[in-house]
Amino acid sequence: MEARITGHTRLYALIGSPVGHSGSPAMYNYSFEKLGIDAAYLAFDVPLEKTKEAVDALKTLNAGGFNVTMPCKTAVAGLVDRLSPAAELVGACNTVVVEEDGSLTGHITDGVGFVRNLKEHGVEIKGQKIVLLGTGGAATAIAVQAALDGVEEIAIFNRKDEFYANGEKTVEKIRKAVPGIGKVWIDDLDNTELLGDVIARSDVLINATRAGMSPMEDVTPVPAEFLRPELAVADVVYNPKETLLVRKAKEAGCRAAIGGSGMLLWQGVEAFRLYTGQEMPVREVEERFF
Ligand code: NAD
Repeated sequence: MEARITGHTRLYALIGSPVGHSGSPAMYNYSFEKLGIDAAYLAFDVPLEKTKEAVDALKTLNAGGFNVTMPCKTAVAGLVDRLSPAAELVGACNTVVVEEDGSLTGHITDGVGFVRNLKEHGVEIKGQKIVLLGTGGAATAIAVQAALDGVEEIAIFNRKDEFYANGEKTVEKIRKAVPGIGKVWIDDLDNTELLGDVIARSDVLINATRAGMSPMEDVTPVPAEFLRPELAVADVVYNPKETLLVRKAKEAGCRAAIGGSGMLLWQGVEAFRLYTGQEMPVREVEERFF
């Protein structure tokens, strides 16, 4: 450590709360060291009401960039100087790059990471009909990136809870920003008959709800009988590593059954590229930390 940290070492950070469980410091510090980049990454527990102070502090300290997790993702989007097209549409950012002139550019890498992880598993989403379960943070990032990446149709399903209205807004935003896209619509996840019909004529099913996440490990967001071999199934949930949905998709012989940890890895790879212009040593990082 004393050989690696110098008077010039550039700070990168994670802000949000809680952050103690985060694997990001290990992933980035390993990559900095491996590539000989004079930088260090630390996680800072920042509550929502301290977001602006934290962002100002990182600017003052000439940090190279920082990642943002809940609950600060939306607040930070309102504090940066410019947003990437995806971050603008989502209304949140998880990666902020401090530019040469000290100005801040906000990006969201969750959607890019998700799509890249699909690709790694042989699933291309361009021209595909997708069913997206969820209208929270992860789901919105995926919906926006999928639309920007040329999917043919997005059918969003969510429970009629406090997140539903956000899904309606996402549908409107996508229709406006990507006018060439086919059908984009939302319905009630509890409308099981309709959900079954739509999944039966879709190519990719994505769970971006908390269903299946610990301690709801014995829950699948859709009945297992809706799964069939022609369908690719992807979950954003990474705790547990293999959700019941992914297990059921494997049992049903789905053409792909993809867990959430790859999305976590690839969103980090994208952030690292934005920070450094370099490719994270991704296979080694995956082996060591995922
Ligand atoms: P959020 O709180 O913003 O949204 C939660 C969503 O889950 C809403 O759509 C809500 O209606 C739905 N929901 C909650 N409980 C449900 C249930 N029992 N049945 C059906 N729907 C339910 O959460 P988020 O930040 O979008 O995170 C959602 C999941 O995605 C979490 O498990 C999180 O860990 C995971 N996630 C993974 C990555 C990754 O990189 N793999 C990134 C972000 C989030």
